[in-house]
Amino acid sequence: AKAAGRNTSRFFDPVLEESANTRVRLQQELGVALAKEQFEVMYQPQVNVRTGQVSGFEALVRWQHAERGLISPGDFIPVAEETGQIVPLGTWVLRQSCMEATRWPAHLKVAVNLSAVQFRSTSVVDLVEQALADSGLPASRLELEITESALIDDHDGAQATLMALRERGVRVALDDFGTGYSSLAYLRRFSMDKLKIDGMFVRHLATDMDAQAVVTAIISLAKALRLTTTAECVETAEQLELLRALGCDDIQGYLMARPLHAGQVPEFLGRENLM
Ligand code: C2E
Ligand code: CA
Ligand code: CA
Ligand code: CA
Repeated sequence: AKAAGRNTSRFFDPVLEESANTRVRLQQELGVALAKEQFEVMYQPQVNVRTGQVSGFEALVRWQHAERGLISPGDFIPVAEETGQIVPLGTWVLRQSCMEATRWPAHLKVAVNLSAVQFRSTSVVDLVEQALADSGLPASRLELEITESALIDDHDGAQATLMALRERGVRVALDDFGTGYSSLAYLRRFSMDKLKIDGMFVRHLATDMDAQAVVTAIISLAKALRLTTTAECVETAEQLELLRALGCDDIQGYLMARPLHAGQVPEFLGRENLM
């Protein structure tokens, strides 16, 4: 009888009820924010380890909430993915990022995160073409970051999308590499340009031999498959030196810069000696 009592009381759990309310409110507020374009894209530099030069910027969205200030994507992207709001939001981010990148020196790329939901939609290639055409950004300056979750359900469809994007000259990076469930066979099966080494491994690079072994393996695997590598969340000079020794191509992280407002990019590019 006790156990049953506990079970039924779950339906009236004030914590659960509150979180359901919070979700509904979040969904409604997101709808308003989308209509009013209350988002900002910030740009975090990616730096070539060999030359020390900036190679591009990753676009990272923030929600400018009227009362709560800047909200980070981890707090609303999952809800937006569930409700489908990620489609208009992702479209806005893509178009905004392409337009912004046209103001940068012409050798710099912009890397845009594409949700699995959006990657799997049939119109994704048209969407990308439209964003490039409307902004005037050459396809070679756009990179799309996708995660393994974009690839798992429909292998043939995913490969067709990847090929269509790459045929048009857009580059594709596999984000958060090493954290998903997919087998290494995915790397043979899907056309890609780059692996992004997840921050989880980079964080422990200098202190944990296992993390170092994983990063070493990812970089040598990437080289063998003619993929480039970018390490994210690089915070210390020691991590940088290890990544340099291992032959990592690009690095991104607080060591160089936090994500910047669009207006801060020119000043950042004017700085010398990034590393
Ligand atoms: P991500 O794609 O793995 O992006 C890297 C995250 O690490 C960013 O968090 C970035 O600000 C943070 N970061 C960068 N350097 C460092 C560092 O040195 N140390 C630490 N501790 N963190 C660092 P952010 O901006 O909060 O974004 C979180 C996640 O939200 C992203 O992870 C990405 O999955 C998602 N996201 C962001 N913008 C978008 C977007 O426009 N569309 C979609 N679909 N997802 C997005
Ligand atoms: Ca990313
Ligand atoms: Ca990542
Ligand atoms: Ca990550």
